[in-house]
Amino acid sequence: MATMTVTPKNKPKKVALKGMMENVMEQFNSASDQIELHPNIRKILAITNNEIVVNFPVKMDDGTVEIFTGYRVQHNNALGPYKGGLRYHPTVDIDAARALAMWMTWKTSLAGLPYGGGKGGIKLDPSKYSQAELERITRRFTFALADNIGPEHDIPAPDVNTNSQTMAWMADTYMSTRPPAERTANQHVVTGKPEGSGGLEGRDRATGYGVFLNIKFWAEKKNESLKGKKFIVQGFGNVGYWASHFLEKEGAKLVAVQDASGSIRNANGLKVADVFNYAQINDGRILGFPEAFDLDDENFFSTECDICIPAALGNQITVENAPNIKAQLIAEGANGPTNVDGEKILLDRGITIIPDILCNSGGVIASYFEWLQNRNGEIWNLDDVMTKLDKKMKHSFDRVCAFAKAESTDLRTAAFCLAIQRIEKAYIQRGIFP
Ligand code: GLU
Repeated sequence: MATMTVTPKNKPKKVALKGMMENVMEQFNSASDQIELHPNIRKILAITNNEIVVNFPVKMDDGTVEIFTGYRVQHNNALGPYKGGLRYHPTVDIDAARALAMWMTWKTSLAGLPYGGGKGGIKLDPSKYSQAELERITRRFTFALADNIGPEHDIPAPDVNTNSQTMAWMADTYMSTRPPAERTANQHVVTGKPEGSGGLEGRDRATGYGVFLNIKFWAEKKNESLKGKKFIVQGFGNVGYWASHFLEKEGAKLVAVQDASGSIRNANGLKVADVFNYAQINDGRILGFPEAFDLDDENFFSTECDICIPAALGNQITVENAPNIKAQLIAEGANGPTNVDGEKILLDRGITIIPDILCNSGGVIASYFEWLQNRNGEIWNLDDVMTKLDKKMKHSFDRVCAFAKAESTDLRTAAFCLAIQRIEKAYIQRGIFP
């Protein structure tokens, strides 16, 4: 006898979320339609140039050997060397690396940088490894990637769960394996290094500062002040922390934070430095911060606020939580935090989204400054870095807003259109070899 599946009455069916790759492709296709992208160039940009997957062994502290899988996807280099971060996270796989590499291509293009896009990382949970193990993992990964990266070819940088220490190990390993006379000339093989090892003053705060600047430009455009505006932040790493720091300085109030440990709230405001200091002594976790109430993770995005900053992972704002979001503005600190179906709901509700490829581009712009600094044997100062960053971000913000207005489209489509058009132009000028 045939069996019948019964769906309980009134229970909404769980819809499968689109993956990161489906999201970025849908965004790419709708922008390509809008600008009537040349069909040949559309074919080229819809796929990645190179995909490197490496399995490599590393000796653990207890003497056993573990095998790790690392990825580097090079999406496109029409405008210059591949550029983009390396993340250490259990969600890293080829699909995630492809999608993130594509977003990098659009991000560097939109920012007017002489770079293409790449991304990668290692599938692992870094909290399970000692510092010494992470160092050996990083060095062995760099060694495995060595022929595929290079200061004029593919330049990695920090991303989720990697930082200036990771980049210092990478630079040292890469340089150590070059012939002696070439070693120091290769310092710009990675960006996001510590100051003192070729790093740029201000690179640490650049992404969060850029997110803050975009929010400030948005408020200025509406003739509003940030003073008293309430904001919530998902992810209290480098991006979430620095964006919160600068917003608080302008008088805005942090009312809820979520990280991997859980969610906390306080409608009267959470002191950014206090939350940060608490996390420092609590294994990087915000949960348990004394001057706050716990909040269910599912209710985080429905917290009463004006501005919402997703600054953690992709696919966080979806059809499930988009209808309940109270913010008027979503400022994407993370890459791909808004799922395409969630985005439709937000746009229908009149909520503005400053898209990732614009909103979090401060990081890669500062990486470009670091790369120039190393290449030219210079040491830039913080004031110069911040002023130059401010100028570049404002220019991008204004261009995206002007395009969106002229074409009656949303900011993400506008940002994608501008990014793709710049690459299309390069292909048309140069043609296709042979
Ligand atoms: N990982 C950062 C991003 O997603 C920075 C990339 C870079 O500096 O190359 O934009």
